[in-house]
Amino acid sequence: MSGHAKLVQSHQCRQCCTFCDRVVHPAGCIESSCPYLYLYDDEASGRRYMGCLGNVFKVEIDVEVFGEAERTRQRFGGVKITGRPTPRCQISVERAYEGHGEPFDCVNPGFFEPPETGPDPAEALDLRDRL
Ligand code: SF4
Ligand code: SF4
Repeated sequence: MSGHAKLVQSHQCRQCCTFCDRVVHPAGCIESSCPYLYLYDDEASGRRYMGCLGNVFKVEIDVEVFGEAERTRQRFGGVKITGRPTPRCQISVERAYEGHGEPFDCVNPGFFEPPETGPDPAEALDLRDRL
């Protein structure tokens, strides 16, 4: 199994029919002014995207769509975690299916514990500045 597959696996659980994924909330990246948050203007489409330099999530989020969702639904929600989170990341577990009975009984309660985190992005950047 490759390292990548291990990482993906550690942020999802399929041990019962609920299907859980750890997600990170981009609203938290903005609130914490995280140094890993970047903005990028795509000249071809004229759209602005945001992403995570630390690869905690891989998708690039359309800033306009994000802003609209925050205004109308209060929260954009979370995106799947693909790398090691940092102490700044706002993380939660999303359940894909809700159901009753044994097929939906959690057999991996540890998945709801906070995941292992890497260094705070500000510390990592400070270190790089000193090199
Ligand atoms: S490190 Fe965490 S808080 Fe910072 S941009 Fe990435 S996902 Fe957001
Ligand atoms: S409810 Fe528990 S066992 Fe089921 S998928 Fe989620 S973490 Fe895994």
